Amino acid sequence: MLFLFFYLLQCCPKFYLFLHTMSNGILLIYTGGTIGMVQDYETGTLKPFNFKNLRKHIPELSRFNFPIDSISLENPIDSSNMQPSIWVEIATIIEEKYDEYNGFVILHGSDTMAYTASALSFILENLDKPVVLTGSQLPMGIIRTDGRENLITAIEIAHAHKKGKPIIQEVVIYFEYYLYRGNRAVKSNATLFEAFSSPNYPVLAEAGVNIQYYGVSTPAKNKGKLTVNKQICHDVLSLRLFPGISNHTIEHLLLTPGLRGLVLETFGSGNAPTNKEFIALLKEAIQKGIVVVNVSQCLKGGVVQGTYETSKMLEEIGVISAKDLTFEAAITKLMYLLGIYSTPSKVKTFFQKNLRGEMMVD
Ligand code: ASP
Repeated sequence: MLFLFFYLLQCCPKFYLFLHTMSNGILLIYTGGTIGMVQDYETGTLKPFNFKNLRKHIPELSRFNFPIDSISLENPIDSSNMQPSIWVEIATIIEEKYDEYNGFVILHGSDTMAYTASALSFILENLDKPVVLTGSQLPMGIIRTDGRENLITAIEIAHAHKKGKPIIQEVVIYFEYYLYRGNRAVKSNATLFEAFSSPNYPVLAEAGVNIQYYGVSTPAKNKGKLTVNKQICHDVLSLRLFPGISNHTIEHLLLTPGLRGLVLETFGSGNAPTNKEFIALLKEAIQKGIVVVNVSQCLKGGVVQGTYETSKMLEEIGVISAKDLTFEAAITKLMYLLGIYSTPSKVKTFFQKNLRGEMMVD
């Protein structure tokens, strides 16, 4: 028997792969969020608690037939306190534990989950394992919590394999029966359990009696080993246009010391006022080396610069179209690219490329 085992191990790569994929488990990375929160009896507000509290409420975790290990941020947070340094901390955990686990599940508050998912999709280059973010709208200790199902299914997704390979090989969000590409998702509902949507990309899977994968999980062009890009630039701003916005305010904003990137949130398919002063302010900023990208305020569809006179002007002065990117993906892509490249032209070139399935391809 033992002889047969070693013979298969030596002579049959598939057997080795089978053992390898069966023995490795899932690493849960707990960052905080409602899922693990408890009520502060003095103030009545919800605040993050430690991971032991969460485990206590999900005895099901011990019923999986593969190991589930967990690691927690030292101080779990409400995700409104998320910072790029914590994205890097999470990415570093994944980097260090990459070969030990089949997949990773990140427990995270829903408020900024789409930002973290987008950021991680850029930071983790050549990812070929699942990184599944999930959380809940109600804490685990509450009887009607959505957290239990979200977590259990997220773990199943992170462990799902076909022909020895993970079904999902990218950063995704699982929430209330749907699996979304992380950099395509937005938090679109503050109260319903179905808190997320993916306005410009189909869902990757749906959980019912079975988990139905729709075969649209295309990992980024894999060119080698996992690379973790840890330089994230903070010197960015966003500017949401509205009728009546004053050029004076815009001027002040663009004079922010050290500013390197601006996400301009425009109307419809990428339109903005045509008044000369506004255009001149943007032009001057671009000439100074600030990268300005144009994101639509509309959730669905995207920017097509040049359709209207009101977007042609932006195109002419060098504003970059973010096409159908979500705001979350646009700002994190900009922070990531500005962290890697010091020249605006490089940032502009790569911003227009589809790096991790975040953007439609022409
Ligand atoms: N404020 C919470 C957070 O984002 C909300 C949630 O977890 O859903 O951390």
